[in-house]
Amino acid sequence: MHTQVVIVGGSQSGLAAGYHLRRLGVDFVILDAQSTPGGAWQHTWDSLHLFSPAAYSSLPGRIMPPHTGQEYPDAQHVVDYLNDYEKRYELPVERPVRVLGVHRDGHFLRVEADAGTWRARAVISATGTWWRPFLPAVPGRSDFGGRQLHTVEYRSPQDFAGLHVIVVGGGNSGAQIAADLAYDTELTWVTQRPPRFLADDIDGRALFDASTARRRALDAGRTDTGGVASLGDIVAVPPVRAARDRGLLTASPMFTRLVPGGVEWADGARAKADAVIWCTGFRPALSHLAPLRLRGRRGQIATLGTRAVDEPRLHLLGYGDWTGPASATLIGVGRPAREAAREIAALLGTPQ
Ligand code: FAD
Repeated sequence: MHTQVVIVGGSQSGLAAGYHLRRLGVDFVILDAQSTPGGAWQHTWDSLHLFSPAAYSSLPGRIMPPHTGQEYPDAQHVVDYLNDYEKRYELPVERPVRVLGVHRDGHFLRVEADAGTWRARAVISATGTWWRPFLPAVPGRSDFGGRQLHTVEYRSPQDFAGLHVIVVGGGNSGAQIAADLAYDTELTWVTQRPPRFLADDIDGRALFDASTARRRALDAGRTDTGGVASLGDIVAVPPVRAARDRGLLTASPMFTRLVPGGVEWADGARAKADAVIWCTGFRPALSHLAPLRLRGRRGQIATLGTRAVDEPRLHLLGYGDWTGPASATLIGVGRPAREAAREIAALLGTPQ
Protein backbone atom coordinates (compact mmCIF):
# COMPACT_ATOMS: atom_id res chain seq x y z
CA MET A 1 0.00 0.00 0.00
CA HIS A 2 1.20 3.53 -0.76
CA THR A 3 0.53 6.73 1.17
CA GLN A 4 2.45 9.95 1.69
CA VAL A 5 2.85 9.54 5.44
CA VAL A 6 2.46 6.67 7.91
CA ILE A 7 1.88 7.64 11.53
CA VAL A 8 2.76 4.79 13.89
CA GLY A 9 0.61 5.02 17.04
CA GLY A 10 -3.00 6.23 17.27
CA SER A 11 -3.27 7.84 20.68
CA GLN A 12 -2.98 11.58 21.46
CA SER A 13 0.37 12.13 19.69
CA GLY A 14 -0.60 10.29 16.52
CA LEU A 15 -4.01 11.99 16.39
CA ALA A 16 -2.50 15.47 16.86
CA ALA A 17 -0.11 14.76 13.98
CA GLY A 18 -3.02 13.55 11.85
CA TYR A 19 -4.99 16.69 12.62
CA HIS A 20 -2.19 18.91 11.31
CA LEU A 21 -1.37 16.75 8.26
CA ARG A 22 -5.03 16.86 7.28
CA ARG A 23 -5.05 20.67 7.49
CA LEU A 24 -2.03 20.76 5.19
CA GLY A 25 -3.67 18.46 2.65
CA VAL A 26 -1.21 15.61 3.15
CA ASP A 27 -2.38 12.04 2.60
CA PHE A 28 -1.71 9.73 5.56
CA VAL A 29 -2.72 6.66 7.50
CA ILE A 30 -2.45 6.02 11.25
CA LEU A 31 -1.53 2.48 12.32
CA ASP A 32 -2.35 1.63 15.93
CA ALA A 33 -1.65 -1.60 17.80
CA GLN A 34 -4.65 -1.22 20.14
CA SER A 35 -8.07 -2.67 19.24
CA THR A 36 -9.90 0.44 20.45
CA PRO A 37 -9.08 4.20 20.66
CA GLY A 38 -7.34 5.72 23.67
CA GLY A 39 -3.75 4.41 23.65
CA ALA A 40 -2.20 4.04 27.08
CA TRP A 41 -5.12 5.80 28.76
CA GLN A 42 -7.12 2.56 28.43
CA HIS A 43 -4.71 0.70 30.68
CA THR A 44 -4.01 2.97 33.67
CA TRP A 45 -4.99 2.23 37.25
CA ASP A 46 -8.62 2.80 38.21
CA SER A 47 -8.22 5.97 40.29
CA LEU A 48 -5.86 7.89 37.97
CA HIS A 49 -6.88 11.50 37.39
CA LEU A 50 -5.14 14.01 35.15
CA PHE A 51 -2.85 16.53 36.80
CA SER A 52 -4.47 19.41 34.84
CA PRO A 53 -8.08 20.54 34.42
CA ALA A 54 -9.85 19.44 31.20
CA ALA A 55 -9.37 22.68 29.26
CA TYR A 56 -5.61 22.43 29.90
CA SER A 57 -5.51 18.89 28.57
CA SER A 58 -6.72 19.63 25.06
CA LEU A 59 -5.42 18.62 21.66
CA PRO A 60 -5.32 21.08 18.75
CA GLY A 61 -8.68 22.23 17.45
CA ARG A 62 -10.93 20.86 20.16
CA ILE A 63 -11.14 21.77 23.83
CA MET A 64 -11.56 18.77 26.13
CA PRO A 65 -15.05 19.14 27.64
CA PRO A 66 -15.22 19.42 31.43
CA HIS A 67 -15.68 16.22 33.39
CA THR A 68 -18.88 16.70 35.36
CA GLY A 69 -18.16 17.03 39.05
CA GLN A 70 -14.40 16.55 38.66
CA GLU A 71 -11.89 19.35 38.24
CA TYR A 72 -9.26 16.82 37.14
CA PRO A 73 -10.75 14.34 34.64
CA ASP A 74 -10.18 10.61 34.97
CA ALA A 75 -8.53 8.37 32.34
CA GLN A 76 -11.87 7.19 30.92
CA HIS A 77 -12.73 10.81 30.18
CA VAL A 78 -9.51 11.06 28.14
CA VAL A 79 -10.35 7.84 26.28
CA ASP A 80 -13.81 9.24 25.43
CA TYR A 81 -12.25 12.52 24.30
CA LEU A 82 -9.71 10.78 22.03
CA ASN A 83 -12.45 8.58 20.59
CA ASP A 84 -14.56 11.63 19.81
CA TYR A 85 -11.54 13.56 18.42
CA GLU A 86 -10.72 10.76 16.02
CA LYS A 87 -14.30 10.61 14.73
CA ARG A 88 -14.81 14.37 14.55
CA TYR A 89 -11.79 14.88 12.30
CA GLU A 90 -12.36 11.60 10.44
CA LEU A 91 -8.80 10.53 11.08
CA PRO A 92 -7.96 7.32 9.18
CA VAL A 93 -6.83 4.96 11.95
CA GLU A 94 -6.30 1.27 11.17
CA ARG A 95 -6.64 -1.05 14.20
CA PRO A 96 -5.32 -3.30 15.46
CA VAL A 97 -2.15 -2.98 13.36
CA ARG A 98 1.26 -3.46 14.99
CA VAL A 99 4.23 -2.03 13.11
CA LEU A 100 7.11 -4.46 13.28
CA GLY A 101 9.80 -2.51 11.42
CA VAL A 102 10.48 0.66 9.44
CA HIS A 103 13.03 0.18 6.64
CA ARG A 104 14.75 2.39 4.07
CA ASP A 105 13.53 1.46 0.60
CA GLY A 106 14.94 3.86 -2.02
CA HIS A 107 12.84 7.03 -2.07
CA PHE A 108 10.43 5.46 0.40
CA LEU A 109 10.30 4.27 3.95
CA ARG A 110 8.77 0.81 4.04
CA VAL A 111 6.58 0.14 7.05
CA GLU A 112 6.15 -3.55 7.76
CA ALA A 113 3.27 -4.44 10.03
CA ASP A 114 1.43 -7.55 11.12
CA ALA A 115 -1.43 -6.54 8.79
CA GLY A 116 0.50 -5.57 5.67
CA THR A 117 3.22 -3.35 4.25
CA TRP A 118 2.98 0.37 3.56
CA ARG A 119 5.36 2.54 1.52
CA ALA A 120 5.49 6.20 2.50
CA ARG A 121 7.59 9.28 1.86
CA ALA A 122 7.71 10.04 5.59
CA VAL A 123 6.94 8.35 8.91
CA ILE A 124 5.90 9.87 12.22
CA SER A 125 6.59 7.59 15.17
CA ALA A 126 4.15 8.29 18.02
CA THR A 127 4.23 5.06 20.01
CA GLY A 128 4.57 6.48 23.54
CA THR A 129 6.37 4.89 26.48
CA TRP A 130 3.74 2.87 28.36
CA TRP A 131 4.70 -0.24 26.43
CA ARG A 132 8.27 -0.23 27.69
CA PRO A 133 8.25 -0.21 31.49
CA PHE A 134 11.63 0.37 33.12
CA LEU A 135 12.79 -1.72 36.08
CA PRO A 136 16.04 -0.82 37.85
CA ALA A 137 18.65 -3.48 38.49
CA VAL A 138 18.31 -4.17 42.23
CA PRO A 139 20.08 -7.14 43.83
CA GLY A 140 17.94 -10.02 45.03
CA ARG A 141 15.01 -9.45 42.67
CA SER A 142 14.84 -13.14 41.84
CA ASP A 143 15.11 -14.12 45.54
CA PHE A 144 11.94 -12.24 46.50
CA GLY A 145 9.06 -14.64 47.10
CA GLY A 146 6.17 -12.16 46.79
CA ARG A 147 4.54 -10.46 43.85
CA GLN A 148 6.43 -7.85 41.80
CA LEU A 149 4.70 -5.56 39.36
CA HIS A 150 5.30 -2.35 37.49
CA THR A 151 3.02 0.72 37.34
CA VAL A 152 1.53 -0.62 34.10
CA GLU A 153 0.12 -3.68 35.92
CA TYR A 154 -1.33 -1.89 38.96
CA ARG A 155 -5.12 -1.43 38.98
CA SER A 156 -6.64 -0.95 42.42
CA PRO A 157 -5.99 -1.17 46.20
CA GLN A 158 -8.57 -3.95 46.46
CA ASP A 159 -6.02 -6.33 44.97
CA PHE A 160 -3.72 -5.70 47.95
CA ALA A 161 -6.12 -5.21 50.89
CA GLY A 162 -4.45 -6.03 54.22
CA LEU A 163 -1.10 -6.89 52.60
CA HIS A 164 2.37 -5.46 53.19
CA VAL A 165 3.13 -3.47 50.04
CA ILE A 166 6.27 -1.59 49.06
CA VAL A 167 5.85 1.15 46.47
CA VAL A 168 9.12 2.24 44.85
CA GLY A 169 9.39 5.63 43.14
CA GLY A 170 9.25 9.33 43.94
CA GLY A 171 7.51 10.56 40.80
CA ASN A 172 3.84 11.16 40.12
CA SER A 173 3.01 7.49 39.55
CA GLY A 174 4.74 6.43 42.77
CA ALA A 175 3.05 9.12 44.84
CA GLN A 176 -0.41 8.50 43.36
CA ILE A 177 -0.21 4.73 43.74
CA ALA A 178 1.17 5.08 47.29
CA ALA A 179 -1.74 7.43 48.11
CA ASP A 180 -4.16 4.92 46.59
CA LEU A 181 -2.79 2.11 48.80
CA ALA A 182 -2.27 4.15 51.96
CA TYR A 183 -5.64 3.35 53.55
CA ASP A 184 -6.12 -0.38 53.01
CA THR A 185 -2.62 -1.85 53.09
CA GLU A 186 0.49 -1.90 55.27
CA LEU A 187 2.34 0.54 53.03
CA THR A 188 6.04 1.38 52.80
CA TRP A 189 6.80 4.08 50.24
CA VAL A 190 10.42 4.12 49.12
CA THR A 191 12.06 6.91 47.14
CA GLN A 192 15.62 7.50 45.97
CA ARG A 193 15.65 11.01 47.41
CA PRO A 194 13.17 12.72 49.73
CA PRO A 195 9.92 13.34 47.83
CA ARG A 196 9.56 16.82 46.38
CA PHE A 197 5.89 17.87 46.32
CA LEU A 198 5.01 20.87 44.20
CA ALA A 199 3.17 23.64 45.99
CA ASP A 200 -0.49 22.73 46.39
CA ASP A 201 -1.67 25.45 44.01
CA ILE A 202 0.61 24.21 41.20
CA ASP A 203 -0.72 21.69 38.71
CA GLY A 204 -0.03 20.67 35.12
CA ARG A 205 -0.80 24.19 33.89
CA ALA A 206 2.25 25.59 35.68
CA LEU A 207 4.37 22.66 34.53
CA PHE A 208 3.47 23.39 30.93
CA ASP A 209 4.24 27.10 31.38
CA ALA A 210 7.60 26.32 33.02
CA SER A 211 8.55 23.91 30.26
CA THR A 212 7.60 26.40 27.54
CA ALA A 213 9.48 29.25 29.27
CA ARG A 214 12.58 27.06 29.50
CA ARG A 215 12.49 26.20 25.81
CA ARG A 216 12.03 29.88 24.89
CA ALA A 217 14.94 30.90 27.15
CA LEU A 218 17.24 28.23 25.71
CA ASP A 219 16.21 29.07 22.12
CA ALA A 220 16.95 32.75 22.78
CA GLY A 221 20.35 31.91 24.31
CA ARG A 222 19.29 33.06 27.79
CA THR A 223 20.06 31.38 31.12
CA ASP A 224 18.45 27.96 31.68
CA THR A 225 15.38 28.52 33.88
CA GLY A 226 15.53 24.91 35.08
CA GLY A 227 12.07 24.22 33.65
CA VAL A 228 9.80 21.74 35.37
CA ALA A 229 12.55 20.12 37.46
CA SER A 230 13.06 23.36 39.37
CA LEU A 231 9.47 23.22 40.68
CA GLY A 232 9.42 19.71 42.19
CA ASP A 233 8.56 16.17 41.15
CA ILE A 234 5.08 15.43 42.43
CA VAL A 235 1.89 17.29 41.59
CA ALA A 236 -0.17 17.37 44.79
CA VAL A 237 -3.41 16.21 43.12
CA PRO A 238 -6.28 15.96 45.66
CA PRO A 239 -5.81 12.26 46.66
CA VAL A 240 -2.04 12.74 47.09
CA ARG A 241 -2.60 15.90 49.12
CA ALA A 242 -5.20 14.17 51.33
CA ALA A 243 -2.92 11.19 52.09
CA ARG A 244 0.09 13.44 52.67
CA ASP A 245 -1.87 15.72 55.03
CA ARG A 246 -2.97 12.71 57.09
CA GLY A 247 0.68 11.74 57.48
CA LEU A 248 0.25 8.61 55.35
CA LEU A 249 2.82 9.55 52.71
CA THR A 250 6.15 9.59 54.48
CA ALA A 251 8.90 8.03 52.38
CA SER A 252 11.80 5.79 53.38
CA PRO A 253 15.10 5.86 51.49
CA MET A 254 15.76 3.27 48.80
CA PHE A 255 16.58 -0.22 50.10
CA THR A 256 19.70 -1.98 48.90
CA ARG A 257 18.31 -5.42 48.07
CA LEU A 258 15.32 -7.70 48.05
CA VAL A 259 15.25 -10.74 50.34
CA PRO A 260 12.80 -13.66 50.18
CA GLY A 261 10.25 -12.04 52.52
CA GLY A 262 10.77 -8.34 51.82
CA VAL A 263 13.49 -5.73 51.42
CA GLU A 264 16.66 -4.83 53.29
CA TRP A 265 18.46 -1.52 53.80
CA ALA A 266 22.23 -1.00 54.04
CA ASP A 267 22.13 -0.92 57.86
CA GLY A 268 20.49 -4.36 57.97
CA ALA A 269 16.98 -3.07 58.71
CA ARG A 270 14.24 -5.03 56.94
CA ALA A 271 10.62 -4.52 55.94
CA LYS A 272 8.22 -7.36 55.25
CA ALA A 273 6.60 -7.32 51.83
CA ASP A 274 3.93 -9.36 50.11
CA ALA A 275 4.25 -7.21 47.00
CA VAL A 276 6.66 -4.67 45.52
CA ILE A 277 5.25 -2.19 43.02
CA TRP A 278 7.94 -0.60 40.83
CA CYS A 279 6.85 2.90 39.83
CA THR A 280 10.19 3.45 38.19
CA GLY A 281 9.28 4.94 34.86
CA PHE A 282 9.34 4.11 31.22
CA ARG A 283 11.50 4.22 28.11
CA PRO A 284 10.38 5.22 24.61
CA ALA A 285 8.86 2.29 22.65
CA LEU A 286 11.09 2.47 19.59
CA SER A 287 11.92 -1.13 18.68
CA HIS A 288 10.10 -0.77 15.32
CA LEU A 289 12.76 1.79 14.32
CA ALA A 290 15.69 -0.59 14.93
CA PRO A 291 16.16 -1.41 11.21
CA LEU A 292 17.01 2.28 10.58
CA ARG A 293 19.98 2.02 12.97
CA LEU A 294 19.61 5.55 14.35
CA ARG A 295 20.52 5.08 17.99
CA GLY A 296 23.58 6.95 19.14
CA ARG A 297 26.09 5.79 21.71
CA ARG A 298 23.81 6.74 24.61
CA GLY A 299 20.93 4.80 23.10
CA GLN A 300 18.88 7.83 22.08
CA ILE A 301 17.95 8.88 18.55
CA ALA A 302 19.34 12.36 17.82
CA THR A 303 16.59 14.81 16.87
CA LEU A 304 16.33 18.37 15.67
CA GLY A 305 12.88 19.39 16.85
CA THR A 306 10.94 16.25 16.00
CA ARG A 307 13.04 15.26 12.97
CA ALA A 308 15.59 12.46 13.24
CA VAL A 309 18.94 14.02 12.42
CA ASP A 310 20.17 11.00 10.47
CA GLU A 311 16.88 10.21 8.69
CA PRO A 312 15.02 13.40 7.72
CA ARG A 313 11.97 11.42 6.57
CA LEU A 314 11.37 10.27 10.14
CA HIS A 315 9.81 12.35 12.94
CA LEU A 316 9.45 11.35 16.58
CA LEU A 317 6.55 12.75 18.52
CA GLY A 318 5.46 12.66 22.14
CA TYR A 319 8.26 10.82 23.91
CA GLY A 320 9.57 13.64 26.09
CA ASP A 321 11.26 17.00 25.98
CA TRP A 322 13.85 15.76 23.46
CA THR A 323 11.06 15.68 20.85
CA GLY A 324 9.56 19.07 21.82
CA PRO A 325 8.88 20.81 25.15
CA ALA A 326 6.11 19.03 27.09
CA SER A 327 5.45 16.88 24.00
CA ALA A 328 4.54 13.91 26.23
CA THR A 329 1.44 15.72 27.51
CA LEU A 330 -2.00 16.26 26.03
CA ILE A 331 -1.69 20.01 25.82
CA GLY A 332 1.98 20.02 24.87
CA VAL A 333 1.92 17.69 21.88
CA GLY A 334 -0.02 20.05 19.59
CA ARG A 335 2.86 22.35 18.86
CA PRO A 336 5.52 19.77 17.95
CA ALA A 337 2.83 17.92 15.96
CA ARG A 338 2.25 21.07 13.93
CA GLU A 339 5.97 21.54 13.36
CA ALA A 340 6.42 17.93 12.27
CA ALA A 341 3.48 18.21 9.86
CA ARG A 342 4.84 21.43 8.37
CA GLU A 343 8.31 19.99 7.86
CA ILE A 344 6.87 16.90 6.20
CA ALA A 345 4.62 18.99 3.95
CA ALA A 346 7.70 20.98 2.92
CA LEU A 347 9.65 17.77 2.26
CA LEU A 348 6.80 16.52 0.05
CA GLY A 349 6.54 19.85 -1.74
CA THR A 350 2.92 20.33 -0.60
CA PRO A 351 1.94 24.04 -0.80
CA GLN A 352 1.49 25.48 2.73
P1 FAD B 1 0.36 6.37 24.07
O1 FAD B 1 -0.86 6.83 24.74
O2 FAD B 1 1.23 5.38 24.77
O3 FAD B 1 -0.07 5.77 22.67
C1 FAD B 1 0.80 5.16 21.78
C2 FAD B 1 -0.02 4.29 20.86
O4 FAD B 1 0.88 3.68 19.94
C3 FAD B 1 -0.74 3.17 21.59
O5 FAD B 1 -2.06 3.05 21.13
C4 FAD B 1 0.10 1.95 21.26
O6 FAD B 1 -0.63 0.74 21.24
C5 FAD B 1 0.59 2.30 19.88
N1 FAD B 1 1.80 1.58 19.49
C6 FAD B 1 2.92 1.37 20.22
N2 FAD B 1 3.82 0.67 19.50
C7 FAD B 1 3.24 0.44 18.29
C8 FAD B 1 3.65 -0.25 17.11
N3 FAD B 1 4.84 -0.82 17.02
N4 FAD B 1 2.80 -0.30 16.06
C9 FAD B 1 1.59 0.31 16.13
N5 FAD B 1 1.14 0.96 17.23
C10 FAD B 1 1.96 1.02 18.28
N6 FAD B 1 -0.13 13.77 30.38
C11 FAD B 1 -0.97 14.81 30.59
O7 FAD B 1 -1.08 15.69 29.72
N7 FAD B 1 -1.70 14.92 31.74
C12 FAD B 1 -1.65 13.95 32.69
O8 FAD B 1 -2.30 14.08 33.72
C13 FAD B 1 -0.79 12.81 32.49
N8 FAD B 1 -0.76 11.81 33.40
C14 FAD B 1 0.01 10.70 33.14
C15 FAD B 1 0.02 9.65 34.07
C16 FAD B 1 0.79 8.52 33.83
C17 FAD B 1 0.79 7.39 34.81
C18 FAD B 1 1.58 8.44 32.67
C19 FAD B 1 2.45 7.23 32.41
C20 FAD B 1 1.60 9.49 31.75
C21 FAD B 1 0.81 10.63 31.97
N9 FAD B 1 0.79 11.68 31.06
C22 FAD B 1 -0.03 12.77 31.29
C23 FAD B 1 1.72 11.69 29.91
C24 FAD B 1 1.12 11.38 28.53
O9 FAD B 1 0.07 12.27 28.23
C25 FAD B 1 0.65 9.93 28.37
O10 FAD B 1 1.74 9.07 28.61
C26 FAD B 1 0.06 9.64 26.98
O11 FAD B 1 -0.48 8.34 26.98
C27 FAD B 1 1.08 9.75 25.85
O12 FAD B 1 0.38 9.67 24.63
P2 FAD B 1 1.06 9.10 23.31
O13 FAD B 1 0.07 9.24 22.20
O14 FAD B 1 2.37 9.75 23.09
O15 FAD B 1 1.36 7.57 23.65
